[in-house]
This record gives sequence, structure tokens and C-alpha cells, in this order.
Amino acid sequence: MIIIGIGTAVSISSAVVRGYESMAVQMRTAIVKNQCIMLANQLASVDYLNNPTNAIVNARIDMITSIYGGRILIVDEDYKIIKDTFDLDKGKYMLSSIVIDCFGGTEYSHYDADNDIVEMAVTITSTEEPESEVIGVMLTSFSTKEIANIRKTLERNETLVLGVSIIVIVVVGLWASWLLVRPFKKITSAIDAMEIEPISVYDYYETQQITDAFNRLIDKVNTMEESRQEFVSNVSHELKTPLASIKVLADSLMMNPDADIEQYKEFMKDISEEVTRENAIISDLLSLVSMDKNIEGLNIQKVNINDLIDLVVKRLKPIADLANVELIVESFKNVEAEVDETKLTQIITNITENAIKYNKPEGGWVRITLNADHQYMYLTISDSGIGIPKEAQERIFDRFYRVDKSHSREIGGTGLGLAITKSAINMHKGAIRVSSVENEGTTFSIRIPLIHIA
Ligand code: ADP
Repeated sequence: MIIIGIGTAVSISSAVVRGYESMAVQMRTAIVKNQCIMLANQLASVDYLNNPTNAIVNARIDMITSIYGGRILIVDEDYKIIKDTFDLDKGKYMLSSIVIDCFGGTEYSHYDADNDIVEMAVTITSTEEPESEVIGVMLTSFSTKEIANIRKTLERNETLVLGVSIIVIVVVGLWASWLLVRPFKKITSAIDAMEIEPISVYDYYETQQITDAFNRLIDKVNTMEESRQEFVSNVSHELKTPLASIKVLADSLMMNPDADIEQYKEFMKDISEEVTRENAIISDLLSLVSMDKNIEGLNIQKVNINDLIDLVVKRLKPIADLANVELIVESFKNVEAEVDETKLTQIITNITENAIKYNKPEGGWVRITLNADHQYMYLTISDSGIGIPKEAQERIFDRFYRVDKSHSREIGGTGLGLAITKSAINMHKGAIRVSSVENEGTTFSIRIPLIHIA
């Protein structure tokens, strides 16, 4: 800012001074030239070259030289000086190139800035036939001292104004940069302090924007950190629970020397179930982590969704029969879509399995419907089950979240099924929604693009 300010001030002030000088010289030259041309015409008309004592003309010549502080020399055809207002060179011969060129028709004008004079040569042209014959040359030099004096005064003022401007520019520049930079220093040191806490640097609008954006980031980081801690503690808790049961079962067998074979069999069956559960949790966790990091990616193929639903229903039929739940499929269209077959199977299986698990003890049903438009396929899985309370509906997709922890344990499951389902749907750029009424039933609606969006 300071360099730009000083550069501009210097160029403006020197342009003003130089502009004045060249304009003043041009104007003065034009005026003097006019006078000389008029005088040259008069000289020709009164035949001054042959009669240089003409008093009227001489008086006019003297007047012009005294007004413009100059000297006039008049040279005749023989290159002889017939008039010199300084009376120094009268009678001498003038054979300079300027005079010779002027007789050839080339007039001359030159500003000598070092000596503060303007020199010019004007032709004296005959008024008799043949016209425009050059019969003499008038050499004029006049002073531009007053222009130089004004320029010097301007230069002095310019230096003064420039000096003051530079001081003002430097002071304002330093002050403005301090004002601009200070809040950023504060922000930097707040960030450097690495405190995951909101910062407040509200010096002006832009820094306020940065601070607000930074605080939003901090909020996100804090939320992520909280959910990470919650996840870690949930994982350890979930992994420890089956191990604790196994230990209790094994310990009680060991501490009872009289335990019979039946008791052993029963406890070993329980231990085996706990191992199965531990296994399920670990494999669910692994598939969640791999989806989070997108390790496997998607294996996209064109899949017939009607066939895929039929296959899932066939696989789940024994579980549904066991729970006395009727499985109904309604396809409104034959739908083909570009999806990862394994992941879509997992999505439909997880939700249908839940719909069977959380159903009525007797006479329940699960209905799967399939439809599509030109862009998406729409899947709904409804059940006549226990329903999900309103406040729990947005949390069921969280990892390890279960509505009724004690009850869910009997029913089984890891609490990761819907989290996995949601991740798989997100990978397909789809969406899942839940609507549910307690003790009446639940509907999961899924929308997935027919053409895969990479
Ligand atoms: P889980 O392994 O416990 O089934 P999920 O992630 O699949 O875990 O589901 C999370 C929770 O959402 C379940 O524990 C259950 O409380 C609730 N839930 C899921 N589906 C249904 C449903 N169809 N009806 C009622 N509750 C459900």
C-alpha cells in the first residue's frame, strides 16, 4: 500500500510540473510565432530588406523584442544580417544550416530547456510576382525564464506536498496494515493454541466471517470427537458383554465340582451362543469400518431387483415361519438397476429381518413393495410390529442404538444392522426414511437411483 501510494503521488506531481512547462512553452511559442509571421509579412510589404531604416517597422520590431525579452535578426538573400536588435552582428554574414534550410522553405523552432530560450526561424516571402519566393529569413530567440521560474516554484511546492503526502501515506499505511493484520494474528494464535474451543475475534466483518466459519468447524470437530468417544466406549462395552457372560458361565462350572453332564451341556450351549454373538458384532463392525473407509468400493452390476427380493424372501421364510409372520411381496414393475448386488441384498435382508424380529407375537405380517420411475426405484418394507417411539426414530440408524436394550438382547442383534444399511444406501447415493406408530407398525422407505452415480 505504501509503495503504491508513494509511486502514485510522485508520478502525479512530476506529471503536473512537466505538463505545465511543456504547455506554457507551446503557448508562448505559438504566440511569438504568430507575431513573427505578421512581422515577416509587414517586412515584405514595405520592402524592408532594401530599406532597413523604416522607422515604423523598426519601432514594431523593438516593441516585440522588448515584450518577449528576445532578439531578432533579419537576414537578406545574400545571407547578410541587415538588422540585429542587439546591434552585435549587423553587417555580418549568417551561413548556418538553419538559415540555409529556411531559404529552402523549412522553418525552424527549438526549445532549449537548459538555457531557457526558444529559437525559431521564419521565412520572409515576397509579396510581388512570383509569389512565395523566399527573400529573407527572420531569426528570433526569446526567453522562457518566467516559465522556468514558475516551474521552479512549482517544483519547490511539489517537494513540500510530496514530503507531507509520503508521511501521511506511511502513517496511514502502517496504521491500516496494523488494523488489518491484528485480527488475523489473534485468529492464528487462537488456532495455534490448539484449543478446540470457539474463538471470538470480531474486529470487522471479514474476520467475523472467518471466526464464525472456524467456530462452526470447531463445533463439527467436537461433535465428531464426542461420537468417536461414544463409539469407542460402545464397542468396548458390546465386545465385553459376551465375554463377561462366557466367564460367568465357565467360572460357575469350575466352581461346582458336582456339576453333571446335563449342566455342562446347557452351559456350553450358552457359551456357544455368546461366542456367536461376539462373532456377529465383530463382523458387523468390520463391514461398517470397511464401508466408512470405502475400502471395498461398490461392485456395480445391472441387477433384476424383483428376483433379488424373491431370493431374500426365500432365505428369510424359515425365520418368518418360526415367528409366525406372513411375508408378502408386491412388485408394481419389473425393475432393473445398476447396484452392488451383495450390498443391496444386505440392505433388504437387514430391514426385513428387523421387521420379522420386532413383529407381533402372533399373526403378524411384513409387506415388501417395489416400484420405480424413470430415475429411481422405490422399496418399502412395512410391518405390523411393535413400532418405534417418535423420539427414537432418528436415532435407530446410530451405531449400537437399540430402543429397548433389555428386550433386544433376547431378540438378538448387534445394534449395528441399520447403521450398516444406511451406509450401504449412502454409497448408492440413495435415501432411507422411517415412519412408525407404536404398537401398530413400522415402514421403511428406500429410494435408490436406477443408474449408478459414481
Ligand atoms: P438390532 O441388531 O438391534 O436389530 P438395528 O440397527 O438393526 O439393530 O436396529 C436398531 C434398533 O431399531 C433395534 O434395536 C430396534 O429397537 C429398532 N428397530 C429396527 N427395526 C424395527 C422395526 N421394524 N420395528 C420396531 N423397531 C425396530
